[in-house]
Parts: sequence; structure tokens; C-alpha cells
Amino acid sequence: MYYAAKLTEEKCTGCKICIMSCPDPNVIAFVCASKKVKIDEGRCKGCGLCVSVCPKDALNVSQL
Ligand code: SF4
Ligand code: SF4
Repeated sequence: MYYAAKLTEEKCTGCKICIMSCPDPNVIAFVCASKKVKIDEGRCKGCGLCVSVCPKDALNVSQL
């Protein structure tokens, strides 16, 4: 089974806290156009660190 972080865009305020929490700095990227983050699900390890730090409950780890 493969798990990855998923974003609920409506909840994301673009604070970028999750980007700093991720062990791989290239998996979560800030998108200037939307002012929200984007998860590279193919490279996410599913560790859940970003989920634990998001103040808006905008992230969860689920099975792909
Ligand atoms: S920590 Fe949460 S609210 Fe902040 S940018 Fe990441 S997903 Fe969005
Ligand atoms: S689950 Fe882990 S590897 Fe995936 S985006 Fe969140 S912090 Fe990064």
C-alpha cells in the first residue's frame, strides 16, 4: 500500500509551515498563483509530519 499527503485546498491559508516540516523540501511547494501549497504525491513518503503541524487541518495522509 502507498500513502501520501493530500491537501484540502479550501482550508489552506498558504502559511507555508508544512513546507518547513517536510523532510524533503521539494515535496511540498508553494504555488504563487493560488497562494496555496501543492503536494507532489508521487514523491511524498507519507510520514505525516506536515499533517501534524498544519494549523488549519488542511492536510491528511491517505492511501493512493
Ligand atoms: S500548513 Fe496547512 S494552511 Fe499552512 S500552507 Fe501548509 S497546508 Fe496550507
Ligand atoms: S507526509 Fe511527510 S513526506 Fe509527505 S509531504 Fe508531508 S511531511 Fe512531506
